[in-house]
Amino acid sequence: MRETHARYAGLTDGAVADYIPKLAEADPDWFGISLASATGRSFSVGDAQQEFSIQSISKAFVYALVCESLGHDLMRERIGVNNTGLPFNSVMAIELNGGHTMNPMVNAGALATTGLVPGDSWEEKWDYIHRGLSAFAGRDLELDEEVFASEMETNLRNMGIARLLQSYGHISIDPMRVTELYTRQCSLRVTTEDLARMGATLADGGTNPVTGAEVVSPAVSRDVLAVMATTGMYEASGDWLFEVGMPGKSGVAGGIVTIAPGKGSLATFSPPLDAAGNSVRGIRATRHLSHMLGLNLFSSTAQPG
Ligand code: GLN
Repeated sequence: MRETHARYAGLTDGAVADYIPKLAEADPDWFGISLASATGRSFSVGDAQQEFSIQSISKAFVYALVCESLGHDLMRERIGVNNTGLPFNSVMAIELNGGHTMNPMVNAGALATTGLVPGDSWEEKWDYIHRGLSAFAGRDLELDEEVFASEMETNLRNMGIARLLQSYGHISIDPMRVTELYTRQCSLRVTTEDLARMGATLADGGTNPVTGAEVVSPAVSRDVLAVMATTGMYEASGDWLFEVGMPGKSGVAGGIVTIAPGKGSLATFSPPLDAAGNSVRGIRATRHLSHMLGLNLFSSTAQPG
C-alpha cells in the first residue's frame, strides 16, 4: 500500500469537482488509501483520516438498505440494474428508457431509491439512512452542513430529475423533499477508513466485521455488488471492471470504495476527477493494488499480475 501511494501521489491529472461550490475547496494533493479485511483488520496510508463528503458512494449503501426492506424482485423492477452508458446526472437516460430509471448508482435511480426509503415522516426516513450508513461504517457519521448547504443552493438539475421521475409516476412523494434527503445522504462525512469498513461489511455478506452488526443480508450484499460491478463507475464501469476486476463505487468528492467479496475492501480518496467523475489517482491506485494483491474476480488464480 505504501508503494502504491508513493507511485501515484505525484500524478496530477484530473480536476477537482466545482459544480458543487464547496467541493472546489478540496486540496488536490489529498491522497489516502485504506484496506479493511472481512475479518476486521485494517491498514491505511496517506490522508486516511481526512474527512470528505461521501457523495455518490452513498447510493450503493442506501440501495442496500432499501433492498433489505423491499426485496430483490421489486427493486429490480422499480429501479433497474443496467448501465445507462451516459453521465451520472443524465436526464436523457430517463427519457430514452421510457421514463424508467435504469440503475440505482446514477442520480435518477438513486433519487427514486431514496424516494422508497421506509419511514412515516422525513425525520424517520433520514434517521433510517443515517443510522444505516453509520452501521455500515461502525461509527456515527456526521453531516457536512457546508457541503449540504452548498449543494442545496445549486441543486436545480437533481430537482429537475426528481420532478421528471414524478411525472412518470416513479416518485410518489414530494420530489423536492426527496432531493433534499438524497443531498443530505451525499453530504455525510467519511474517511477512507470508514469507506473501507463500509465496503468490508458488504464483502462480509452484510455483517460489519468490527462491530458484528448484521446491517443487511448476504443476498442483499450480493445484489448490491452485482449492480456496482455493472454501474458503480457510471459510463466508465466497463473500463473499471476490465482493469480492476471488482465492483467499485465512486463519488464526486474523490472517494472510491472497491469490494473483494469474502475478502475485504479497498478505499481511496483523491479529489481530482476524470471526465466521468471518477478519481484519477483512485482508479490507478486501486488497479495497481488489485494486480499486486491478486484480487481480480475474473482471475483463475490468486496470483499477482
Ligand atoms: N451529490 C452529487 C450529485 O447529485 C453526487 C454525484 C456524484 O457523486 N457523482 O450531483
